[in-house]
Amino acid sequence: MMTQSPSSLKTFINCPALYKARYIDKIIKFTGNAATERGELIHKRMEELCLGSALSPDWGTNGDGAKLYGQNFINEVLKIGSLREKGVKIYVERQIAINAKGEIVDWWDKSAILRSRIDLFIDMEYAGAVIDWKTGRTPGDPLQLLINAMCLYPLNPKTRYDGYFVYLDQAKVDSSTMIFDTAPLNSENGKVLELRLWLEKLERAYAENTFPATANNDCRWCDLRSNCDSRS
Ligand code: SF4
Repeated sequence: MMTQSPSSLKTFINCPALYKARYIDKIIKFTGNAATERGELIHKRMEELCLGSALSPDWGTNGDGAKLYGQNFINEVLKIGSLREKGVKIYVERQIAINAKGEIVDWWDKSAILRSRIDLFIDMEYAGAVIDWKTGRTPGDPLQLLINAMCLYPLNPKTRYDGYFVYLDQAKVDSSTMIFDTAPLNSENGKVLELRLWLEKLERAYAENTFPATANNDCRWCDLRSNCDSRS
């Protein structure tokens, strides 16, 4: 079974048939579009800002001079930069993979079961803050923050992680808290149990080669839609 990322697992949860087409048969290839290009640019700028880069005059605009986000939001992010000056540990753009024992392994290691990219992690002694920058309006999935925290745990073990989706265009934040009574993969935390259940279902799907089409809210965007009798 391939290593799962938050997006691959979410795809399986929504529709196993789409998961198979995208990640096993690879008949759907995502080549990017203007929105993903913009998203990448904004993530790069956020990374620079959190690392303490000075703001250039065009910092809040793209190459064409269009505004990326408002001054209010920039002010908020500058506060993150100031945490670094106060000695708080800040990590940007971390990529972490873990194996079934919850140990860190190489990103491409075959034993990796989960891997995730973490936009920003702030180590605040009493808790860890996991921050994901969102461009566009699509709501973030708490499953992503959970996998982020599980991958961070071996490097920065915490009992509590606070996860934040920061919607840059709307200057809006969604948050959730994750509590781990023990190492996350062995945790009895309800969200972890649910995630383990999905990983087991996925393993069974691979073993039985059974990936049923399951109608969901994203059917209207699905590349398989025209040939799918199960679509909503
Ligand atoms: S149209 Fe909907 S049900 Fe059909 S494969 Fe796509 S996501 Fe699954």
